[in-house]
Amino acid sequence: MPEAPPYPETAAARDLWIRQRRHGIPRDVLSSTHAGGWLAESEPTAAGRSESGLTVFLTNRECPWRCLMCDLWRHTLEESVPVGAIPHQLADALDAAGPDPDRQWIKLYNAGSFFDPAAIPTADHPEIARLCAPFRRVVVECHPALVGHRVNDFRDLLKAGSQLEVALGLETAHPEVLEKLNKRVTRDGFARAVRWLKEHGCAVRAFVLVKPPFLDEAAAREWGCRSIDFAFDCGVDIVSLIPTRSGNGALEALAASGDFSPPSLATFEAVFVHGLRQRRGVVLADLWDLGRLVTDPGELDAVRTRLETWNRCQSAECGPATR
Ligand code: SF4
Repeated sequence: MPEAPPYPETAAARDLWIRQRRHGIPRDVLSSTHAGGWLAESEPTAAGRSESGLTVFLTNRECPWRCLMCDLWRHTLEESVPVGAIPHQLADALDAAGPDPDRQWIKLYNAGSFFDPAAIPTADHPEIARLCAPFRRVVVECHPALVGHRVNDFRDLLKAGSQLEVALGLETAHPEVLEKLNKRVTRDGFARAVRWLKEHGCAVRAFVLVKPPFLDEAAAREWGCRSIDFAFDCGVDIVSLIPTRSGNGALEALAASGDFSPPSLATFEAVFVHGLRQRRGVVLADLWDLGRLVTDPGELDAVRTRLETWNRCQSAECGPATR
């Protein structure tokens, strides 16, 4: 069998390489008339309270970037949605979730950038803001390169007193690995985006990948911790830790060449504990795909309980199974 081509050195060639690895991986069957789903969840605040809220997964056009580790394109459309579709999806999701005066926040996650007008039409921002009026905090995600005037315009549409929080993917503070991830953002670019958002009154959340490709277990542990520290140095309020997962074809190809393996549970927990012990802001472990991190299915419930407890208490020293 011919050897698979190695991961390219140039950004232009990487886009093609990553796209080619998608072959045979299906997209979800989606329609612009329906949100991908919603979840009622709770999150701790920096003040130590737990606040409940709603995460709505909006259906929209695929993100124009081609990050090496990203599988979110599977939950997107290939074309832009018409004006009015996103507010319609959001209104339906809010109806389905039902009213709950205890809900403090809403996350509008669109598997891309909220401020990409080809994904979320800018003309829909006023109606989206109106639908978000019951929530004290509105969280959207965005590529650092798209942080700018549209953020301010949307922030100004929110109800007085509401906080806009923008979630940015740092992914890793390791400069060479960050470059290879093909996100086309640098540490400086990330820091600039955070500074701009803070100067304009937004809260900032950073996504950090635990064990991105090209790092062994020890380096992944070190750089997971350093990435949390870097994010807080930049001024973020919340760090969300995501165990790097395969599923997009590209990471499977890198796994075959020995350049990627998912993090061990021990690495993920060690990075999480480091973040919690810094006490510089909220640190959350993303548990949406926890089953992939736990090799012994018999341990899954206990691990989930432990990590949920750490998330809730913002401490690794509390809960039913402390370490
Ligand atoms: S910017 Fe975000 S959504 Fe877009 S490809 Fe990269 S990780 Fe995926």
